[in-house]
Amino acid sequence: MKIMLDRLRAQPVSRILLLVTVVVAVLPISVLGYYIYHSAWQNSWREIREKHQLRAENLAVPLSTYVNDQRSMLAMTAHMVTLMKHRAEVGSPRLLEQGIITMQRFKSLIQLDMKGHVIAYAEGSHIHNLENTPGLEKFANEQCYLRTRDSGEWSLSGVKRNPLTGEPTIFMGQPVLDVQGKMIGVLLGELQIDYIEAIRARVRFGKKGHSAIVDQTGHVIAHPNPQWMKEIRDLSSWPIVKDMMAGKTGVTKFYSPFIKADMVAGYASVPGIGWGIMVPQPESEVAAQVNELMRSHLIWASIGLLLAITLAGLLARWITRPLDRLASAGRQLIQDGSVGNLPEIRSNSPKEIRELNTVLRSLIAGLQRSREEVRELNSSLQERVDEATHQLRQSNEKLELLARRDSLTELANRRYFENSLSQALSRRSGDIDQVCVMLVDIDHFKQINDAYGHAAGDTVLSHIARVLERGMRSGDLVARYGGDEFVAYMRCSNEVGMQRAREIRESIDSYAIPYNGKNIHITVSIGLYCQVLTPGGLDVNKLLANADDAMYRAKKQGRNRVVDITH
Ligand code: GH3
Ligand code: MG
Repeated sequence: MKIMLDRLRAQPVSRILLLVTVVVAVLPISVLGYYIYHSAWQNSWREIREKHQLRAENLAVPLSTYVNDQRSMLAMTAHMVTLMKHRAEVGSPRLLEQGIITMQRFKSLIQLDMKGHVIAYAEGSHIHNLENTPGLEKFANEQCYLRTRDSGEWSLSGVKRNPLTGEPTIFMGQPVLDVQGKMIGVLLGELQIDYIEAIRARVRFGKKGHSAIVDQTGHVIAHPNPQWMKEIRDLSSWPIVKDMMAGKTGVTKFYSPFIKADMVAGYASVPGIGWGIMVPQPESEVAAQVNELMRSHLIWASIGLLLAITLAGLLARWITRPLDRLASAGRQLIQDGSVGNLPEIRSNSPKEIRELNTVLRSLIAGLQRSREEVRELNSSLQERVDEATHQLRQSNEKLELLARRDSLTELANRRYFENSLSQALSRRSGDIDQVCVMLVDIDHFKQINDAYGHAAGDTVLSHIARVLERGMRSGDLVARYGGDEFVAYMRCSNEVGMQRAREIRESIDSYAIPYNGKNIHITVSIGLYCQVLTPGGLDVNKLLANADDAMYRAKKQGRNRVVDITH
């Protein structure tokens, strides 16, 4: 159950809606349809049963009337025979003839005395001559005659053969009395079966609905099958006939060998006579009527179902289509990085979906605004970071510069120089495989300070720095070594190095530095030491120590000179 529910929940709304509608539509239609079918079937049956029974009962009335009329007629005739005989005005045969003419519905009339002799015999409107009519003695054994003679009562035979013609017939017996009321004979009347058949034949309905009349012994009097009438077929073994013979009235089903089908039949018995009347109709015809009724029910039910499915489909489309549009537009938005907006939902869409659309649209607009703000913030942040980085880089550069520069002379400082020299010694530069280290110390600098002041000393230091800088070439480096000492390394041979050191010394010596209207003349002592580069590298300290040693010697030798201790 839970799995089924889960599976149902996983379905799209449109399918669920369709399913639910179909279930909701089909269930009541099926239940209602079943009850309608059931009650329609029962109603049809009841109606048909009532109709059939009514038909059978209705047929009993004219038959009963017919037989009773004939009985009265026969009684009247018998009475007239008595009267006429008594007055002897007219003979019985003449009277019979008149009776026959009056009572067209008797096929023949036979008057017998108590001994069974036929006194008069009339057939149709014809009076027979008794001598010329053979076989009349057979009437003496006629059951109906015997019963009336013996009982003195009116009697009616079943259907049987006429002893003269052999044709199926029905006799009615009426006692003939004399004026004292003593029975002197019997008047037999032969009923017209054709007339009974004519009454029966009027009852027809449906395609094969018909009627049949049997006598009190279950033999056919009137039936749609003339053969059965001719042979006076015995139907007494049929259950329906047994019921009729028992005087019952009702409706039943039975198999008709005549129609060769199951029949539904109403039946009744004619009161006072005991004849049976049945009105059968094939059950298939009854079923066809019911089915016809059912077909219209089914058509309407199908139309209803179709309508329900169509409506459910339309409803599902109405709900899911805008939802699908929203969903696919949403997916597109995600793909495009929230650029654009959801589509407008049609004004005839469900109210809730339109509201959902409005809410989603404003949500997306808000989201887009926030993203824009974040983007702007990011870009300004980036600008600020760039600015800060730039400033930081500048500060670093300054710091770096400060770290490697002497602030007064703006030459490299001692540490930077030593690092640079160490690196320079580990690699060759061009074809030159020698390096010269030159140490420059101002002579009697202390006296300059003393004589002109410290600022003058600074000016002198800067001046020397510029002179030294000018004397440098690519790949060389000059630095302030400390106090009034400068140091330089030069990529050159010993000879060139010596030459350049001399030029520097001369350049300083030949120039008076102007300061506050005075000219300050100074000299420098230069120590030089050059060495060929070796694969293993050179010892920086040793180089510097040698240069210092050379410079010390220059001082010792009287200052303002260059001393080279390379060799
Ligand atoms: P010598 O010829 O033997 O080198 O004599 P000197 O006077 O130069 O002797 P010394 O090297 O001992 O003296 C250096 C002086 O340089 C001492 C100090 O006051 C001065 N001095 C050091 N640094 C500075 C500076 O930055 N500015 C100035 N104006 N004077 C400095
Ligand atoms: Mg000095």
